[in-house]
Amino acid sequence: MLKVNAFDQQQAASLGADQRQRVERRARLLGPAYQLFYDQPLHLVQGSGATVTDHAGKRYLDLYNNVQSVGHCHPKVVAALAAQAGQLNVHTRYLHDNVLDYAERLLASMPAELGHAMFTCTGSEANDLALRIACDYTGGSGVIVTEYAYHGITQAIAALSPSMGSYVPVARDARVVPAPRHLPGSPQAVGRQFAAEVRKALADMQRHGIKPAALLVDTLFTSDGVFADPAGFLAEAVAAVRAAGAVFIADEVQPGFGRTGSHFWGFQRHGLVPDLVTLGKPMGNGHPMAGLAVKPDILQRFASQAAYFNTFGGNPVSAAVGLAVLEVIEEEGLMANAERVGALLKAGLQSLAPALGTVRGAGLFIGVDIVDASGQPDTLRARGLVNALRDEGFLIGAAGPASSVLKIRPPLCLRREEAERFLSALARLL
Ligand code: PMP
Repeated sequence: MLKVNAFDQQQAASLGADQRQRVERRARLLGPAYQLFYDQPLHLVQGSGATVTDHAGKRYLDLYNNVQSVGHCHPKVVAALAAQAGQLNVHTRYLHDNVLDYAERLLASMPAELGHAMFTCTGSEANDLALRIACDYTGGSGVIVTEYAYHGITQAIAALSPSMGSYVPVARDARVVPAPRHLPGSPQAVGRQFAAEVRKALADMQRHGIKPAALLVDTLFTSDGVFADPAGFLAEAVAAVRAAGAVFIADEVQPGFGRTGSHFWGFQRHGLVPDLVTLGKPMGNGHPMAGLAVKPDILQRFASQAAYFNTFGGNPVSAAVGLAVLEVIEEEGLMANAERVGALLKAGLQSLAPALGTVRGAGLFIGVDIVDASGQPDTLRARGLVNALRDEGFLIGAAGPASSVLKIRPPLCLRREEAERFLSALARLL
């Protein structure tokens, strides 16, 4: 998964002298584990709204970065960051109102049952902490994840991220279930099928003496290829997991903060209240902040045994940034914009059939299958499109087990005319 749309270092010789030197310097200093996107790596120097600019002054419409979700370098967020950074920044073992104001505002966006917020710096850490709490509460160790899920990079969470490939073994007590595939012909069957797979996994855990701890899913199944519909399909599987004594962890790192347009959180599309919700990416609009929300009774035992401290998580600067992000989403109506512009984008992409396969998604998170003449995933064509669009000034990515699903996930401030410009460029290329 981490190699999707990756630049091949062997091709460095084909780059211009300046870019080649930069790519080689990077490889020398950062080592070979790092990847770059695109056949021609991008060197970005500036951003504003949904536009980024490269070192040569070329502008690109950013339809990929869900982190800077209220817009690159949003002035209100930057001002909040600068003001607090100029005043004080300390860890969370001192009293400070920012973290409380932020927690209050964040929790107010969620169902009342989710009573506590805890802060980390990355989504991986948030999932790691959620996993510790879930295992502690249930006394279990078995976690169910989908077959091409990605949840993060700590040792425990990488082992629950099958998309990392065979080099990173799936945890022994985990069970992997197929993603809830979109079934255009019979949408009602999606939830039943997914719940049946989850029950099978629970039965297999029982047979092997493994106590179930959690169902951990990204509520948009992003890495699996974006499976959003029909809203509500998750409910039956979650009920099965709870009946087995385990908890439901909603990974909202991708769908959260209004991206789906109709709801602020992805789990709300499914009419669910998770036991734990993990957050990240857009939370700080580029500033590294993440965290979780949890039901108080689930946190109780963990809290009585283990003190929680994260040096940077929830510091006054991060909290000021997080608060500004929430305010901008509300003041600028970005959720409604995601719904409006997302619907336009989705309809426009659907109108490009049969050159494009199935179009799925919610709000401003859209996946598009790229298939060959026989309907099979076409990895090469998807890669070709991603790179051709980059050359035309449009940034998107790819996802799914075969990297054949175009991943379109722009900042929530994407304007109607920007979406139309992208659709015209794509139509031309197709
Ligand atoms: N969960 C999901 C669904 C993600 O997509 C990611 C990051 N791609 C993470 C967790 C991990 O977040 P981070 O990279 O901030 O550790």
